Amino acid sequence: MKWIVLSLTSVLLLLLVLASCGPEAQTGAVFSKYSAHACAAPSPADTLPPNRVGKALDKVKREESPASGVPTDDPAADTQRHFLLGKFDPAEHPDFVTIAQPYANRPGLLMQREAYAAFKKMADAARKDGVKLTIISATRTFDYQKNIWEKKWSNLQTQVKESKDRALKILEYSAMPGTSRHHWGTDIDLNDLNNASFKSGGSQARMYAWMQKHAADYGFCQPYTAKDEQRPTGYNEERWHWSYRPIADKLLQQYEFSVTDAMITGFLGAENARSIGVVQNYVLGVACKN
Ligand SMILES: [Zn+2]
Repeated sequence: MKWIVLSLTSVLLLLLVLASCGPEAQTGAVFSKYSAHACAAPSPADTLPPNRVGKALDKVKREESPASGVPTDDPAADTQRHFLLGKFDPAEHPDFVTIAQPYANRPGLLMQREAYAAFKKMADAARKDGVKLTIISATRTFDYQKNIWEKKWSNLQTQVKESKDRALKILEYSAMPGTSRHHWGTDIDLNDLNNASFKSGGSQARMYAWMQKHAADYGFCQPYTAKDEQRPTGYNEERWHWSYRPIADKLLQQYEFSVTDAMITGFLGAENARSIGVVQNYVLGVACKN
């Protein structure tokens, strides 16, 4: 496998040398911003800013390796990947805090400190307008999500025989362990888990109208909107699920460049992750992204 890495590095160095032959090379600013740009046909790596080039090459390297998902020689990248997959303890993580009541409907829920501070501001402003925002689910670990997933998997065993169909059925509303935005501490479910409640005439219709008008002012966005040409794949609409973009957008970018379907393992039905394309179609199938 080393020769692949070496050859990729050689190609990148060669591209850097060749960069002086293209028109972009004459523009210092462009050259310094996209140091890997060259007059050769762009590869996935050299269409990216410098901070992503290494990750893109790393992704190419890992996708060629059947052993992807096992620890690499980069402990910091492994730690971050474990974080993205929910394989850490949020109660022990320095960036996570416990959500106080009445912001949450029960004790012990956790989220990232910055996202929580923004949520409190938003909830306080909503309260002044007569709207209550209550967190009913926040950070969920891989193991927690595995529990949700495998319960659904077992319940559907007789109803949906074919393994891939069963996975797709659960994916209408629930994420495979390792692919949930709830792993990140940036995403929360609010008030109710029924879309009808948030629609006209429903008990949460005023809340939803308030969120549509004001949530973005506090950094929050609804990632799972109704599916349309803007969001053709992914989970069904979830009017209760909101995401803190200043952190979540960055984590989504990291996810795209460091996690592959082959790494989504360790639960019943995980073998379907690749054929479903769970990273591309579900993790990246969101309305909130740059
Ligand atoms: Zn949710």
